[in-house]
Amino acid sequence: MKYLDLHKYLKGMKKQVLLLNQDNSPLNIITIGKAFKLLSRDKVYGDETSAECYEVVSVSKIVKIPKVLILKYYVKLPYKKAAASRKNILRRDSYCCQYCGTTLHNDNATIDHITPRCKGGSSSWINMVTSCKKCNLFKGSKTLKEAKMELKNKPKEPSYGFLFESMLITFRKQKNA
Ligand SMILES: [Zn+2]
Repeated sequence: MKYLDLHKYLKGMKKQVLLLNQDNSPLNIITIGKAFKLLSRDKVYGDETSAECYEVVSVSKIVKIPKVLILKYYVKLPYKKAAASRKNILRRDSYCCQYCGTTLHNDNATIDHITPRCKGGSSSWINMVTSCKKCNLFKGSKTLKEAKMELKNKPKEPSYGFLFESMLITFRKQKNA
């Protein structure tokens, strides 16, 4: 398998690698494909002798990719606001319907706009909550008042640290799987 083929192959894998800054502080969770790219460009290092490695078997050799990589240079993090993406909203709300309190999974959770988009509601942290399909359907394009519904928690923008922590938890879960 040539370099390019291997890279293409890794790109399709969902395995994750923890990327640390030069000072060992956690920076990001990256895909194994990106990890391989950084390794082959000599931008990171990791302990390839440790048991904490992914082993990718190609035609001619076994490629070891450490589950934790450290950058060879220091990256100064700009203040970054976490995106109000579906995934992040679900994480903030702990996959809990903010109307009835039901615990949801990724495939049955929906995102509800508190003030409906058709009434000028924005797609922001404070206007979006996790909702089960039933509550979302019931609320429809009504406002909270019109639907006579109440929120379990007042939605707010989480800190970057909170989101990073939940990323790490997901990573640990995958690692232990
Ligand atoms: Zn619900």
